Amino acid sequence: MLFFFGSRSSKIGDRKIRKTTCTHCQTKDSFVVSTFSKYFHFFWIPIIPLFKTHVAECSHCKKSYSKFEFTPEMNAALQKENELNPAKRPIWHGCGCIILVCFFSLMLSISFYGVYKRANNSEASITQKDPRKDMLAKDIDKLSSILQKDKDSISITGQA
Ligand SMILES: [Zn+2]
Repeated sequence: MLFFFGSRSSKIGDRKIRKTTCTHCQTKDSFVVSTFSKYFHFFWIPIIPLFKTHVAECSHCKKSYSKFEFTPEMNAALQKENELNPAKRPIWHGCGCIILVCFFSLMLSISFYGVYKRANNSEASITQKDPRKDMLAKDIDKLSSILQKDKDSISITGQA
């Protein structure tokens, strides 16, 4: 069987960062930071959210900076922005996880219910009177009270 899994990422927010200067064009406060969230997927269903990455783009000269190219000034501005206005992961990045947890808890509760029901049933069958018991008692009674010479010859030999 073929399995498709790996990691994908999606953009979770665009934010402006303040008190920065583009090292390329020297424009102030021109950066827009795009935040991407990576997640592990199985058949394109997101299972586990992984890490976040940031890319900054200067809105003036359009030069983009990966997280490794951020200046200390940009890092500080981003950190401040993260505190004030954090880019949150959408809930669907972990929906596979939620689905799996729901599925397993459903399976578990079904099996617990089955075990509980079976335990109750066996208890009931022990306490409940077996209808064959009466029939058996009647049969035994009939056998021992009506003795016939030709049928019950073994038990009455010698006496007749
Ligand atoms: Zn620039």
